[in-house]
Amino acid sequence: MMRVLKFGGTSVGSAARMQELVHLINDGSPKIVVLSAMSGTTNSLVEIAEKLNAKENEKAMLLIGALEKKYWEVIKQLYKKKLTLNKSKELLDSHFGYLRTFAMDLFTISEERAILAQGELLSTSLFHYYLEEIEIDSILLPALNFMRIDENEEPDLKYIEKNIKQELSKHPNKSLFITQGYICRNTFGEIDNLKRGGSDYTATIIGASIQATEIQIWTDIDGMHNNDPRIVDNTFPIAELSFEEAAELAYFGAKILHPTCILPAQMHNIPVRLLNTMQPNAKGTVITSKISGENIKAVAAKDGITAIKIKSGRMLLAYGFLRSVFEIFERYKTPIDMITTSEVAVSLTIDNTINLEFIKNELKEFCTIEVETGLTIVCIVGNFTAEKQGYALCIFEALKNIPIRMISYGGSENNVSILVDSKLKKDTLIALNKGLFRACI
Ligand code: ASP
Ligand code: MG
Repeated sequence: MMRVLKFGGTSVGSAARMQELVHLINDGSPKIVVLSAMSGTTNSLVEIAEKLNAKENEKAMLLIGALEKKYWEVIKQLYKKKLTLNKSKELLDSHFGYLRTFAMDLFTISEERAILAQGELLSTSLFHYYLEEIEIDSILLPALNFMRIDENEEPDLKYIEKNIKQELSKHPNKSLFITQGYICRNTFGEIDNLKRGGSDYTATIIGASIQATEIQIWTDIDGMHNNDPRIVDNTFPIAELSFEEAAELAYFGAKILHPTCILPAQMHNIPVRLLNTMQPNAKGTVITSKISGENIKAVAAKDGITAIKIKSGRMLLAYGFLRSVFEIFERYKTPIDMITTSEVAVSLTIDNTINLEFIKNELKEFCTIEVETGLTIVCIVGNFTAEKQGYALCIFEALKNIPIRMISYGGSENNVSILVDSKLKKDTLIALNKGLFRACI
């Protein structure tokens, strides 16, 4: 009967926030608490690694010094007792000393991931010491002992389940566990990570591995909103979402959740609750297998999209054409987001353009192509059952002044996607907010 609670960077972002956090976890019920790095830390670590990689070691040293100073302020504010203060000083010496070793030696890019891991290692140890100081019993579970990704950089779920259970079984009478989000090992045993924002993923992977009763993701906003609150005024939290709806929103740009983190929870049917550390009593959003309401629920946008229009006379009345196109994208490990087809052409979008030149060269051997960059996918999520009429009208009425590049409707019952020029993203989101959430629901 264990729950998993994940707290993001702002929830552990200062000594005061860590002290506040205790009230949210100290109810005696069994739980695993997953922590991100303190806010700003991972960005600083990325910058340090960039300087090291550019051989600007002195600049890296300055950045390491500045980050260390911040942590010294934190520990001075966080601890009252000499014992914990001394322990935390040793902790900082060892982590920052480790970072400095990279600046003294030859740096290889694979070491970047060891650098990036320091943020979560620090935040969890500091919080664990704080619990010790105020005499709350807790166990620090080292994520590097059980989180692992396979050769495809996907979580190795069998390994994780076996190993986390083993770690937990070492402490049969304990109920409060703390562990690091984001960090893991890879198949070579090296330190690696689950990509930026990956602590959410850690939480749902752990939740699935231990069959948790609930996974809670605590952030600084009161749940998933119906539209991007950074761009549009008057957005509101959505009380209930299905796993599919939440996954579409997370993938298409809702910053509150890591895009793939819904999957492990969905596979094991474990509810995911999004909650706000600053307003712990707000209802937030609960994500379950239940499909609630027949309506348009939310809008999200994903930038940095490239569209490729592929034309070929050979496509007309031919079969096998799409397969040859898709095989090229598969070979270059490039996921496709949207697709629309006509009899002689197919348009598709990608966001990973690392291999675009290779893909273009192969496509050119059997078709003509046009590539357009600087695009945004706006995704409208809801429960669009096939029999229900009127959604398309609402959407296109709202967007009557926006030039639309591509439309994908009917791919799933949860999603309508449109492609627009990124310059029009803001106008599109505002127009949809006005047009969809008053008139149509
Ligand atoms: N600290 C990592 C990041 O900033 C992971 C996370 O916060 O989820 O991306
Ligand atoms: Mg996050």
